Amino acid sequence: MKKLFKTSIYLVFILLFVFTFTACNLQSVQNPLPSPNDQQVIVPKENNGSTTQDIQKFTAYQQGSLRIDFIDIGQGDCIFIIFPDNKSMLIDGGSTPFANSSAIVECLNFYQIKQIDYLMLTHPHADHCNSLTAILKKYSVKEFFLPLLLPSYSKANARKLKGHYDNKTYYKFYQEVEKQVEKGAVLNYNVGIFSIIGENYSFDFYCYEAEAYQEISGASSNNKVNALSPIGFLFYNEIRYCFTGDSNVENETYFLSNYTLADIASESFLLKVAHHGSKTSSTAEFLSVINPKVGVICVGANIYGHPTNEALGRLYNIGATVYNTRDNGLITVSQIANEVTVAPVIGESYYFFVEIFSQNMRTFSMLLYIIPHCSKKDCSIATDKEA
Ligand SMILES: [Zn+2]
Repeated sequence: MKKLFKTSIYLVFILLFVFTFTACNLQSVQNPLPSPNDQQVIVPKENNGSTTQDIQKFTAYQQGSLRIDFIDIGQGDCIFIIFPDNKSMLIDGGSTPFANSSAIVECLNFYQIKQIDYLMLTHPHADHCNSLTAILKKYSVKEFFLPLLLPSYSKANARKLKGHYDNKTYYKFYQEVEKQVEKGAVLNYNVGIFSIIGENYSFDFYCYEAEAYQEISGASSNNKVNALSPIGFLFYNEIRYCFTGDSNVENETYFLSNYTLADIASESFLLKVAHHGSKTSSTAEFLSVINPKVGVICVGANIYGHPTNEALGRLYNIGATVYNTRDNGLITVSQIANEVTVAPVIGESYYFFVEIFSQNMRTFSMLLYIIPHCSKKDCSIATDKEA
């Protein structure tokens, strides 16, 4: 009788396991990483099945190609670009609550970068600039692109202007910038429209005019500071990439109403999703113009609910494939001629196992607890006790 009971218990759990496995399989079809639906996107097979140990693994780089690395820095933004003429650009470098310059150094070491050609800070919040101070102590920069906001940090200001741009982190970063400018680095400000022009590519930025900065410098609104982020379009071999920093409805609307869209924005292949997937960014109107096939969200563990279901929903509505650095680790985009490869280090199978372990943890815990107990002689007694 006891033997029959034990056998039926095992049978129940085997069936439960099979059911769980099948259920996971069905869920994985609906997971937030749908297969790329465009032939130009290639997700290499070797990346499917990677483990978390591979998070900072860089894939092979071919000189003369366009390379964009969305570095897994935690909750913040950090994008490293190598243009086809081998010039390099760092856009932002920050992580909250703690700076993470080692992730950036690891990337620069991989490409054997000794000097950064362009460094852009989209706006002066810590999650975009706190890791750059250490980087500027190690690496020289040829040309800076910064917000037109000069820090004048003091403790009194810090208390008075909570949430204001004029924070200690930005002040320290700016001190390092000034040291490099004294040695000959060029300092530009993110104002109006400007471009970085290469041999066969262009990177065009659209920002507020100078008057808007005067309003921001007297404001203590995080939203207004976020809206200083340039909206940039990198264009190479007929393929367009859109970068946004922490743009939100304010400057997205400004962009839509003040600049001619037909030539510059429509049908971008990839969108760096603004503000870590905040619900006040990536409006339906903005997305309908950009219409990206791929969205990349720079995000880490956070208390803000990033990326939000609202922003993700709007991206899925336009059929975009969405990656994020928290779940996918380093995300590398390579363009050789007119072929683009998007390679998240951690592929879809990662989600499969996350689903097993998170959504079905309870079932597994029960299995782990009950099976050893049932192999003991007093299995039925234990069951009696429960009853
Ligand atoms: Zn941010």
